[in-house]
Amino acid sequence: NNEEENALSVAASVDTGAPTIFDKIIKKEIPSTVVYEDDKVLAFRDISPQAPVHIVLIPKIRDGLTQLSKADERHKDILGHLMYTTGVIAKQEGIEEGYRVVINNGPTACQSVYHLHLHILGGRQLKWPPG
Ligand code: 5GP
Repeated sequence: NNEEENALSVAASVDTGAPTIFDKIIKKEIPSTVVYEDDKVLAFRDISPQAPVHIVLIPKIRDGLTQLSKADERHKDILGHLMYTTGVIAKQEGIEEGYRVVINNGPTACQSVYHLHLHILGGRQLKWPPG
């Protein structure tokens, strides 16, 4: 509904706890190119790729994890599962010899979607430091 849509756009760069576009991706209400899925996590290609391989990996249940800094004791299992799964996906994508895993936390780090997600970037020589 409209109220939800408005909340979504207002929530673009601050953590309001409102539903995000990733809920719609999880429910397959908006299309995405899924590259990995299990009962706990979903990985899909970023709509605005910053490298030849750019995958977004998210927990299917947000459970308060709008951003990494909101992590609690209860999130340890899902955090471990997400981190482990980056390696599975990197292998599957053929970038295991070099890739970067990024979590943007909060407005200062340019987080735009407040549903915890890991970026997996590879397929080219990456530079350091990042911008
Ligand atoms: P953040 O800036 O919050 O760290 O990362 C959010 C990422 O999600 C961005 O890289 C952005 O391109 C991606 N993204 C946002 N909306 C969509 C969408 O509807 N589909 C896909 N595939 N990626 C999205």
